[in-house]
Amino acid sequence: MAGHAYDSHCPFCRIVRGEIPSSKVLETDDALAFLDINPVNPGHVLLVPKSHHLNLTELPDATAAQLGSLVPRLCRAVQAATQADGFHLIVNNGRAAGQTVDHSHWHIIPRFSNDSVHWPWPHSQYSGDQLSQIQLRIERELNSPPGDG
Ligand code: AMP
Ligand code: ZN
Repeated sequence: MAGHAYDSHCPFCRIVRGEIPSSKVLETDDALAFLDINPVNPGHVLLVPKSHHLNLTELPDATAAQLGSLVPRLCRAVQAATQADGFHLIVNNGRAAGQTVDHSHWHIIPRFSNDSVHWPWPHSQYSGDQLSQIQLRIERELNSPPGDG
């Protein structure tokens, strides 16, 4: 466990170190998955890197790849164990998106045909050339060198 970036004020860092309890379901050298203490539905799991990273955009590619490689197996286990009809894989990134714990984490939330979760969220429509403008801007960002602008 040595060598992982640690923030003593961060609840998930403290869970990784065993300083506060958690209900772990999977642990690797670099990642931990445990039950969310206030689940949307029973079996709601959080997957976190052991190192402290504020949010998804700050994750090194290698760390994201390690977490991502665990997702299908974890989701299969959650779905089978809960007999869920489906599930969400969700990242809340930033306060505007509902992030409350500043240690990057991925939610796996089992869903049941008859549960009371409000979904889907509202969809809108593009107007004028808004769609192509946004497409262009995202492409430019992806093609600009890191640290540029
Ligand atoms: P988010 O709103 O995306 O930042 O999600 C944070 C999640 O962490 C919430 O769903 C909380 O219920 C969960 N949570 C906070 N503290 C703990 C804890 N000590 N153990 C397990 N889950 C926690
Ligand atoms: Zn942390």
